Amino acid sequence: MKREFVLKGLNCAQCANKIEEEINQKQGVEATINFMTKTLTIQIKPEDDDEELLRRLNDIVHKHEPETHVLKKSDSMAQRNDAEVKNSKKEMLKEKKRELFLLSTGGVFFVLGFVLRGRIESYWIMFLISYLLTGGEVLLRAGKNIFRGQIFDENFLMGIATIGAFAIGEYAEGAAVMIFYQIGEMFQDMAVDRSRKSIAALMDIRPEYANAMIEGQLVRVDPKQLQIGEKFAVKAGEKVPLDGVVVRGESFLDTSALTGEAYPRKVKAGDEVLSGSVNQGGMLHVRVTKKYEESTVIKILELVENAANKKAPTEKFITKFAKVYTPIVVGLAVAIALLPPLLTNQSFQTWIYRALLFLVISCPCALVISVPLGFFGGIGAASKNGILIKGGNYLEALSSVDTVIFDKTGTLTKGVFAVTKIEAENGFTGDELLHYAAAAETYSTHPIAQSIQKAYKKNILKSQVSSYSEMAGMGVAATMDNRRILAGNEKLMDNYRIDIKKVAEDDTVVYVAIDGLYAGAILIADEVKDGAKETVNKLGQAGVSKTVMLTGDAKKAARHFAQMLKIEEVYAQLLPNEKVDKIEEIKKNKKTKGQIVFVGDGINDAPALAVADVGIAMGGIGSDAAIEAADVVIMTDELEKIAKTIDLSRQTKKIVQQNIVFALGVKALVLALGAMGFATMWEAVFADVGVALLAVLNSMRALRL
Ligand code: ADP
Ligand code: MG
Repeated sequence: MKREFVLKGLNCAQCANKIEEEINQKQGVEATINFMTKTLTIQIKPEDDDEELLRRLNDIVHKHEPETHVLKKSDSMAQRNDAEVKNSKKEMLKEKKRELFLLSTGGVFFVLGFVLRGRIESYWIMFLISYLLTGGEVLLRAGKNIFRGQIFDENFLMGIATIGAFAIGEYAEGAAVMIFYQIGEMFQDMAVDRSRKSIAALMDIRPEYANAMIEGQLVRVDPKQLQIGEKFAVKAGEKVPLDGVVVRGESFLDTSALTGEAYPRKVKAGDEVLSGSVNQGGMLHVRVTKKYEESTVIKILELVENAANKKAPTEKFITKFAKVYTPIVVGLAVAIALLPPLLTNQSFQTWIYRALLFLVISCPCALVISVPLGFFGGIGAASKNGILIKGGNYLEALSSVDTVIFDKTGTLTKGVFAVTKIEAENGFTGDELLHYAAAAETYSTHPIAQSIQKAYKKNILKSQVSSYSEMAGMGVAATMDNRRILAGNEKLMDNYRIDIKKVAEDDTVVYVAIDGLYAGAILIADEVKDGAKETVNKLGQAGVSKTVMLTGDAKKAARHFAQMLKIEEVYAQLLPNEKVDKIEEIKKNKKTKGQIVFVGDGINDAPALAVADVGIAMGGIGSDAAIEAADVVIMTDELEKIAKTIDLSRQTKKIVQQNIVFALGVKALVLALGAMGFATMWEAVFADVGVALLAVLNSMRALRL
């Protein structure tokens, strides 16, 4: 069972990692903390007592972060209540004001210290006051944590470094380190806050109310109250609160928040509308088809919210790295403070000063904050483009893709077929053939079925059709007027031992048999999607070395499309499970190290989506199976978005890598210079605070990709 908690007041990324680790150890459970959304997700046993758990969690959290509180997440962020939000905002503002006040008075005393230096003997008292004002809290926290056995935390290290500076008479530097440390923290918080806000804004597609139609009157209600089949109205400028079908009215819908699609979509009676889109024109009357909890908007919100719980490998690595980095640097500091003076008779003063520099740089904060922030930003940017990525791990995997496998029908092709030819055999007429085929296909949602329906034009009563069954990747069987109808491909006909007259065309062939007798074939032509060719081409340029097409369709049709799109490898006549086998085979025989992506539409290929390293579902909106199975959901049907997704993931990875190289590079340099006596506290503060800030700012670029 999964439970979510909110960590109110969580502002320290490294503490988040420590808390996560301790919960995992102490509770023996699987816990993940999402620093960006401040959520703790844990796997609990059904018999666990919630209150008791909450108490134990609070104990653990308080040990690391006294000001952070664990709260039950009764509602997901998508369903959060407004009063709560307002209240916590007020508190935060108060806290910020206090910090700012302490910092500015501290600054005044700092300047005073400089002015008085050289004029009066006790000028250092000014620096001390400044230091206590700005750093009092840090010292207090450090003290508390020592009692809890938490040495080596940021507060302790800063405390020791600055007290040390005062002890050896470097008053100005001691105070300055604290001031800059606090300024840096403040800016960092601001930056992280900004990112959180822009993600929240992005997710502000949650509808607040619905205009329910109750006895001919419009009444504002909570969208959760509306049941399937009930009606509501959407006025101009309002959000569609629930998924439904238009029963009256005509308008344009802005779906950009869901799909990243810039152009409004026209809807009229009979069309489906999705929650989260905005009505730009006239009033629409809509009948509910999905309950609020199952509506598109809630699904999307939950997906994006949960994305950061699946951490990217680089993120995990940094967490591990952070754990060893601090003790190593502190160890070096101790060695530097003691060994040279003891061994070579040099002054302790010099070497202690150098050791203090080490302590200032010993926090890996720059990485611990900026790496998750970068991935989170990348995921946010993707969703702005209508690309939903289910986890940082997938985002990172996408950056090293070298094989892309496509499903054909509905993915590379439009799947909107047109009947081009009907060849009736054995005494049946063309009209009869189409009539029976259309009857057999009434229950199917496959694009082929819909095309045949469209060509038939008339409506078939569903009640006339009985014993319907669909065989994935083959076709359908049904009974009407006591006649047993089969419609599908060669495989289906082979299965039922029907003697067919083979048709070899580039078009897709649907063979039809009636009461065991071959009745003829319906030829339907599909079209490649716009941008398919460009996408394959672009992928090649982006370093994807292999493209493959898998299809359940006949070889002839498959080759025809593959040639047109310049896809190198084609495998045809595959059943859904054979698509899976093929992907595993490609995986096994692969000599390069890159990842395998499978792109499908969720029809007959959900297992394939699940088995690839990264499964991308196209046009996922509306297809639950695809949303479930895929790792990445592209909301629109635009193939160009695949290249965009890969590009975005590479850019994100690059930003993260820049941060790692930059942060570690600067730290190593300052450590070396410090040991040799060329660096002062000022450089050390830059290496700590400055680098963290620059890394965070760099990570924020990911949001705008
Ligand atoms: P793809 O792998 O290209 O996406 P599918 O796996 O969805 O295609 O379908 C494979 C083949 O199975 C189709 O080309 C068609 O011959 C047959 N088929 C599947 N469903 C139906 C159906 N409802 N009616 C007729 N034929 C079908
Ligand atoms: Mg398909």
